[in-house]
Amino acid sequence: MIRVVIEDKVYEVEAGTPLGEIYQMAGVENAVGGKVNGKIYDLQTPIREDANIVPIYKSDPESLEILRHSLAHIMAQALKEIYGKEKVHLGVGPTTEEGFYYDVEIEGVRLSEDDLSKIEEKMREIIQRNYPILRRELDREEAIKLFEKLREKYKLEIIKGISPDDVISVYEQNDFVDLCRGPHLPTTGMAGAFKLTHISGAYWRGDSSQPMLQRIYGMAFWDSKELEERLKFYEEAKKRDHRKLGRDLEFFIIDEDVGPGLVLWLPKGGIYRKILEDYWREEHLKRGYQFVYTPHIGNAKLWQISGHLDYYRPNMFSSMQVDQEEYFVKPMNCPFHIAIYKSKVRSYKELPLKLAELGTVYRYEMSGVLHGLMRVRGFTQDDAHIICTEEQVEDVIHQTLEFAISMLRDFGFEEFKVYISTKPEDAIGSPDQWQLAENSLKKAVESMGIPYQIDEGGGAFYGPKIDVKIKDAIGRLWQCSTIQFDFNLPERFDMEYVGPDNKRHRPYMIHRALLGSIERFTGILLEHYAGALPVWLSPVQVRLIPIGEAHMDYTKKLENRLKEEGLRVEVDDRDERLSAKIRDAEVQKIPYVIVIGDKEVSQGKISVRSKKEGNLGSMSVEEFIKHIKDKIKSKAP
Ligand SMILES: [Zn+2]
Ligand SMILES: [Zn+2]
Repeated sequence: MIRVVIEDKVYEVEAGTPLGEIYQMAGVENAVGGKVNGKIYDLQTPIREDANIVPIYKSDPESLEILRHSLAHIMAQALKEIYGKEKVHLGVGPTTEEGFYYDVEIEGVRLSEDDLSKIEEKMREIIQRNYPILRRELDREEAIKLFEKLREKYKLEIIKGISPDDVISVYEQNDFVDLCRGPHLPTTGMAGAFKLTHISGAYWRGDSSQPMLQRIYGMAFWDSKELEERLKFYEEAKKRDHRKLGRDLEFFIIDEDVGPGLVLWLPKGGIYRKILEDYWREEHLKRGYQFVYTPHIGNAKLWQISGHLDYYRPNMFSSMQVDQEEYFVKPMNCPFHIAIYKSKVRSYKELPLKLAELGTVYRYEMSGVLHGLMRVRGFTQDDAHIICTEEQVEDVIHQTLEFAISMLRDFGFEEFKVYISTKPEDAIGSPDQWQLAENSLKKAVESMGIPYQIDEGGGAFYGPKIDVKIKDAIGRLWQCSTIQFDFNLPERFDMEYVGPDNKRHRPYMIHRALLGSIERFTGILLEHYAGALPVWLSPVQVRLIPIGEAHMDYTKKLENRLKEEGLRVEVDDRDERLSAKIRDAEVQKIPYVIVIGDKEVSQGKISVRSKKEGNLGSMSVEEFIKHIKDKIKSKAP
């Protein structure tokens, strides 16, 4: 007998009694599963040891895990019914934040999104048939035999990886069997609202030397209204996908021949980036930063001292041999900035010293997680290291946070969430250092009136940090700025300054990035604005479209006049129809479009169409120049 506790009552039951039967005994109704000693179990799973059980109802978020897991099985069963049992080989089918996916190989079939509705229909049928979902536990031999018979080669691989001490379980619904730990619903009929959303390729086990499987994604909720809402959001997010916008706007490409995760900036993206970087440098100059440039590779000795080779090696690219010594491509800029700091004896009078660099770094990421500009293998951090005395810490942090927020505001973001991560169990640095650092972070946020959360114990072992997330136009949060204390590197590199007492002291060091990386921030900006960037950042601010040859002279004159004012202007003189030219300007999200015909030429007035404000009506060229320059100057979103 075992003892289980449910809602403060103790029950004695036979070891191995399924959770559902225990619920019947205890009078628990409508539960779809339970948290058993903290783990999510379904009603079919036998309870073998003393347990604290918290029932999971449909209203609990954990119940979605059970629902989504079962829908993955129902989808797999549907695929087998449609494409043939022998032809469909199942990989893994986990749940996701909003639904589920299944990786499958279907012999001779390449699915397209057009197939999804057919699969959905079959899934609905299976739900309607209301099969009981049964759990069975097998020993290793039986499991191997079963999946050999089913010709499930990927499942066999998984079984081989299961430790001999672990229970092997399968779930069955009618004639469909899947190797699975659960949890699952008791019947297919209980499944809620779902929608298959898209398909992508995924290597088996995320390994590019393995076969490419087809990954089918679904979204699922109990309630169809909630599903509708999430789908709407999903469609909105899809429209804003920066990878598509990046192509439409000719900002960037990623070329498989160059390498996954390595970004090629096209001329349109290039001019945008120049404007962004110019702005970034100006703002840093105003605040007393000094610019440095550092190499892309560094000697292994440096990365040994910095600790990267001991703690960061898996994220670094392989080394290269140079003159019998080992070199690494840099994953961070810090050790170089420290070398610059240490290049001479530093006096307290030089502090705080703020070394800034738009530093391009390279980090190894698994190919499966790479995503447009958001997750890449080479990127440019808007990096700086601030080295200061203990007395300066508070001011430095305050100024840096203010700087971060003011910069994010300039890009049109208005809502921020701030997180402070504090001292973890295992940490270096003295308690005094931690306290000073943490207090300065809290004080800075509080004085700015920004709400913040504390991630107690969530800091790195070498210092506390502050993270700033921005909320985008559709409510998503994106991590941008980080201000990170470091009690480690000053020790490792033996950094010093000479104080007013003429003695040597250890300085404080702070890493900070405001945008994060130029690549990722650009991805966020593109999605936030759905590609229609503020005028000051737009690669092309004005497009002139002459209706015919007769309007060319006037158009040229206008182009020159606008260029004199430093505006970025393009003339669309292709042999295309007017409607096509206007549509292209729309697709490329050009902020201002001016069509020039007889009326404009004869009256000397232009009619301006603004991407964000619609038709501005007829105005003189000088009026337009004033209008657009106001927008640029105020960085109007
Ligand atoms: Zn499963
Ligand atoms: Zn750093």
